Amino acid sequence: MADFQLVIKGGTVVTAADTFQADIGISQGRIAAIGLNLRGETTLDAAGLLVLPGGVDSHCHIEQLQEGGGADEESWVTGSTSALAGGTTSVITFATQFKGHGISAPLAEYRRRAAHAMVDYSFHQIITDASDDVIFREVPEVVASGIRSLKVFLTYDPLHLDDRQFLRVLAAARRTGALVTVHCENYEAINWRTKALLADGRTAPKYHAWSRPSMIEREATHRAIALAELVDQPIQVFHVSCPEVADEITRAQGRGLKVWGETCPQYFVLGARDMDRPGFEGAKFMCSPAPRDAEASEGLWDVIRRGTLDIVSSDHSGWSYETPVGKRVHGSDAPFRDIPNGVPGLGSRLPIVFSEGVSKGRIDVNTFVRLTSANPAKLFGLYPRKGTIAPGADADVVLWDPGKRVTITNSLLQHVIDYTPYEGLEVTGWPVATVRRGEVVMRDGIVQAEPGTGQFLARAPYDMIRPTGRLPDGFDASAFLV
Ligand SMILES: [Zn+2]
Repeated sequence: MADFQLVIKGGTVVTAADTFQADIGISQGRIAAIGLNLRGETTLDAAGLLVLPGGVDSHCHIEQLQEGGGADEESWVTGSTSALAGGTTSVITFATQFKGHGISAPLAEYRRRAAHAMVDYSFHQIITDASDDVIFREVPEVVASGIRSLKVFLTYDPLHLDDRQFLRVLAAARRTGALVTVHCENYEAINWRTKALLADGRTAPKYHAWSRPSMIEREATHRAIALAELVDQPIQVFHVSCPEVADEITRAQGRGLKVWGETCPQYFVLGARDMDRPGFEGAKFMCSPAPRDAEASEGLWDVIRRGTLDIVSSDHSGWSYETPVGKRVHGSDAPFRDIPNGVPGLGSRLPIVFSEGVSKGRIDVNTFVRLTSANPAKLFGLYPRKGTIAPGADADVVLWDPGKRVTITNSLLQHVIDYTPYEGLEVTGWPVATVRRGEVVMRDGIVQAEPGTGQFLARAPYDMIRPTGRLPDGFDASAFLV
């Protein structure tokens, strides 16, 4: 007699805390038991493999709406396929706001599009216009609907917020119980430097990095932290590119602030040197903040080992290289200022972090799980349903071959984007099967899942993002609708 619908048998189970030999019994989409000699109606043989919780990618852009109509190339079906092929079973993407407009109507469109997902998903709500109606009426509604994180940009036209607007978002998050995630770069400094570069005829992709050196990111990170401290509102700093930026977070954490940091695979393996490739090819590597140099990449691992950075997300961004709607939307000789930013990375995230981290001896496998699954789930209110292997958790599991050597090519990643910045990168460690809520949805690179089987993850209030209660002079300005 079988006790479970599915048993994953004979593998080495890895969580953020432990590594042990066990079988996993799964019924009704959840982990029902962890034990020895479990019997299932069907069995998945995991001998010689690691059994990891499904990846949680808490920062990726899928089918993001564009102001002029339409959406990013990466659809929910292709994005989900790439995620599942790469061992990721849950994602948090973005619902945006267009300046002068509200957030409820676009959010309804995002929900409609995400109904095609094959991974479980939630959204961060981007705020680009902190109007009274958005801040006082719509944000509380959106947060109450389970979208418990807001995203702000301190740079980019037309997305960026000035300090006054940023403070209003922080205060709204404090009132409603949401986390604020921040893109930290100094808007005025980038514009000033960009104008000078273009005036000097320096238009090639490599000058993207010149337009935004690390102090531009460090200054904005420092300012974001200080303003969050003023409001007593937890924040997460997105895509930290180098140790000197992480140092700002270390100092904030030392003061007892709830400030967390994220980095991305591009900051481990890409550099400003890649944007200096001949012709237009440098555009393939353009993202913001800009990838730095090898010393910064190595330094990020030190920062991770010290515990300052908690998450490695992909910041997957959907711009193809050859198509007219992607990197070349303004032509093949467009100045760097006009080339869309972002690199794809949903399917390659786990293999790169495992290979560069675990296989090369920089972190242990439990730290890998912590960075790519457990911490994203904890910090965004999905834990322990997601991010671990425990009785009662969703049966999102990846069977991982730690010794498999693979040379990354774009077709392996199964996204719609026509290139990967990691073409030719050799990795050791690769996912061989993905189980999503008890269903085997990927085996040996073949994804079999029905569009629409992904579930929206409504996020309830959670302790990690509760304010500390420490306010300057004990005065809570966020209690006033100003
Ligand atoms: Zn992003």
